[in-house]
Amino acid sequence: MSAERTYRMLFLGSPGTGKGTYSMRLAEGFGLKHIATGDILRETVKKGGETADQIRKFIDKGELVPDEIIVQIIKGTLLSDEAKRGFTLDGFPRNINQARILDDMMRSIGWEFDYIFNVWAEKKNIVDRIVNRLQCANCNTVYNLVDNPPKNDTICDVCGNHMRHRPDDDRKTVLRRFEVYEMDTAPVVEHYRDRSTFYEIYTGGPVGLAEKDMLKIIREDG
Ligand code: AMP
Repeated sequence: MSAERTYRMLFLGSPGTGKGTYSMRLAEGFGLKHIATGDILRETVKKGGETADQIRKFIDKGELVPDEIIVQIIKGTLLSDEAKRGFTLDGFPRNINQARILDDMMRSIGWEFDYIFNVWAEKKNIVDRIVNRLQCANCNTVYNLVDNPPKNDTICDVCGNHMRHRPDDDRKTVLRRFEVYEMDTAPVVEHYRDRSTFYEIYTGGPVGLAEKDMLKIIREDG
């Protein structure tokens, strides 16, 4: 991978397809900022304060946080100095209104996405994958207890933090998150499908294969 070029990449996909993992790995590889709205919201909840309780209620139920809250967050993040060196965006937009707002923001800065990756896998495997998922609340690294476990029990390999399951990764909330995805977020994929930078990436194969597919697309593109 080369850090010489600035890339702006958008990751779409239902819960559990690995978009968090891949968007983080590509960000690391190309020296880009990884912007994951779910991680930002969980960090906001951890800090406490005025909107934290409100945000937690939506996340714990598997519902989308209101657009006003998330749009404020994303505006601040995209306009930050760190985002100027390029970014991978994961978890936003989650509905058509957010997609239109993002399009307007990108246009007003004069930016376009170099790559839009819609990651997907069969739904029957995804629920099990999510229920077996562990995510570090400190550095956001994602593990899977079945096929990508931490080396030492529930201790994060990267930062040594003791990890717990995300409260919204229980089976009932996961099923609600899927319903919300079908209703609100699936139309976002159609919104972007016609763009020349849109690619479908299958993530149901062995770990690493989907990343190779994405790197191949980026390399072939020059
Ligand atoms: P994720 O980590 O992407 O699975 O997001 C976890 C939860 O954060 C979601 O189920 C939503 O409750 C909330 N969330 C993340 N991104 C957004 C967004 N763009 N709009 C509204 N809610 C969001």
